[in-house]
Amino acid sequence: MNHGYLIDMDGVLYRGHELIPGADAFVRELQTRGIPFRLLTNNSQRTRRDIVAKVGRLGIDVEEEHIFTGAMATARFLAKQRPNGTAFVIGEGGLLTALHQNGYTIVDHEPHYVVVGEGRTFNLDLVEAAVRMISSGSKLIATNLDPNCPTQTGSRPGCGAMVAMLEIATGVKAFSVGKPSPVMMRAARKELNLSTDETTIIGDTMETDILGGVQLGFHTVLVLTGGTHREDLSGYAFRPELVVDSLVEVAHLLQRSSWRSLWLAPNDGAAELERNRPPSPNSAVLCG
Ligand SMILES: [Mg+2]
Repeated sequence: MNHGYLIDMDGVLYRGHELIPGADAFVRELQTRGIPFRLLTNNSQRTRRDIVAKVGRLGIDVEEEHIFTGAMATARFLAKQRPNGTAFVIGEGGLLTALHQNGYTIVDHEPHYVVVGEGRTFNLDLVEAAVRMISSGSKLIATNLDPNCPTQTGSRPGCGAMVAMLEIATGVKAFSVGKPSPVMMRAARKELNLSTDETTIIGDTMETDILGGVQLGFHTVLVLTGGTHREDLSGYAFRPELVVDSLVEVAHLLQRSSWRSLWLAPNDGAAELERNRPPSPNSAVLCG
């Protein structure tokens, strides 16, 4: 059975500059077995090459083709909507590079789009310029609406926080491309060359990874190595199919089917595997 994985990075593979134990082995196993995967991030700051270097330092060796970012999704989306357009960008290298690679010109006058991503370049001069452009008809695009980004020392304002400022100042709602938007989720799935049934998203955030996966019809796995705790789940009207402590448990479940699939046919699938597992307070919970 074909199967492939969209794996969120922050909170799944690493936290800040620290590898989450087992993440390197999991990715290595997928590569060894030729199982398709993409590493996903809403963050538009870094280019694919930057990310390959970052995860490489942590012991996760992947190629640029394995990386799929909110910047890429946004640039590809805009190139389809309006080929060879112009953009005023509040963001950093990853977003600028992706836009250039997709035929876009970066301008500071009458752009087709004002595009907002993460970064440390945000200041009131840029906001003022962007507000004037949006009020004159430029369209407001958010790479994502994450309210904050986790850091090693806590969190910092995310793209969504910056976009909110522009929305309130102009009265215009942004169009967001990143997770959970189907624009990014579908584009990432197509990179795997798999159907929705064959695609599993693994993430640590209910509002993006799991919501997007549920809406697109992917299989969903929540890992508890990031921002979500098991007791948080009762606050949501939707739920992931599987909740695990970390990627180590996903590898363990896949091992039981000889890495054929996490989701085999009824009576032969993960539910059966779960029933066969010795009970443990830390064991994976299969929902539904
Ligand atoms: Mg995450």
